[in-house]
Amino acid sequence: MQIFGHIEGHSEGVKFQNREEIKSSGLHKYHVAGISRILGMGSDCIILNGGYIDDEDYGDVILYTGEGGRPEGSPRQTFDQPFTRGNLDLSKNKYTGDPIRVIRGPNLREKQYAPKEHYRYDGLYFLEDYWPETGIDGFRIWRYKLVKENSSLPPLRDPNQPPPRVSITAQRIQRDPNIPKILKQKYDFTCQVCGIRLEANDNPYAIGAHIKGLGTPHNGPDSEDNMIILCPNHHYLFDAFAFSIDDDFSLIGIDGVLTKKNNHSINSECVKYHRDLFEKANH
Ligand SMILES: [Zn+2]
Repeated sequence: MQIFGHIEGHSEGVKFQNREEIKSSGLHKYHVAGISRILGMGSDCIILNGGYIDDEDYGDVILYTGEGGRPEGSPRQTFDQPFTRGNLDLSKNKYTGDPIRVIRGPNLREKQYAPKEHYRYDGLYFLEDYWPETGIDGFRIWRYKLVKENSSLPPLRDPNQPPPRVSITAQRIQRDPNIPKILKQKYDFTCQVCGIRLEANDNPYAIGAHIKGLGTPHNGPDSEDNMIILCPNHHYLFDAFAFSIDDDFSLIGIDGVLTKKNNHSINSECVKYHRDLFEKANH
């Protein structure tokens, strides 16, 4: 049975000779693929071993590349990565908060955190965010930002050589809780897309969604003009780039217009940033 999180008997730092051994340990489900899936629920483990040239390894933060987009056996991309299979399942960890086991292999393109030989289990990471990007080969990749659970760095391959990459900070993003609180009141907890106001046991419920993501590499501002109020359904669709917003607030990808109160100004640069990602995801 597959589970999320640590597996008894395999503590952080443990080494494996090969993929066969990793599979038998139960840490990762497959022989070749990088993303281990618990079908329809999320990913329990990824292997980082130089399979994709766009991978970036900062130790406690990994910018991981999704799967697909290339012929079998080829290291280079020749078409867009689809948002299916492992890519879709890995994205779900953003919403469930389930941790992902990370295993590094010796063939990582950036060697500073790659084991000299064999594979090493490097503990648990959380999926902070995912988005589409144009990769080095000019095709769409799905990008996953994984942040280490305990912020500790994996061992350096050569301790005498300082890592060429400076850590891009694994600190959890700070959010001002007053911003969504005030904005939800302005909209009376009503979704700006569908107009639905959810209420359960006399308590209204809505989500304050950032338009341009916070944290590296998006670096969107934690401010009211970078936020809209959405119901859970439209929050998921907006977060997964299934629709976006035009400059005149008409919606792209679904019918309708974003409702906007006069006392809520929206940052058009943030909207453009989301729209660019929407176009990358859907072109
Ligand atoms: Zn809605």
